[in-house]
Amino acid sequence: MSDAKIILCPCGFTLHGSGNTEVVAAAQEHARSIHDQALSYEQALAMARPA
Ligand SMILES: [Zn+2]
Repeated sequence: MSDAKIILCPCGFTLHGSGNTEVVAAAQEHARSIHDQALSYEQALAMARPA
């Protein structure tokens, strides 16, 4: 059983991870490098959904 998660960024980019920790880290990195925004763990987690 997979614990894969995705986060759909408002810009249309999809972040993938094998679990909450990984997908949140990917989203935080994306938000920082692409949007110059700091995303909290809770904010990113709220956007995560099963892949
Ligand atoms: Zn984005």
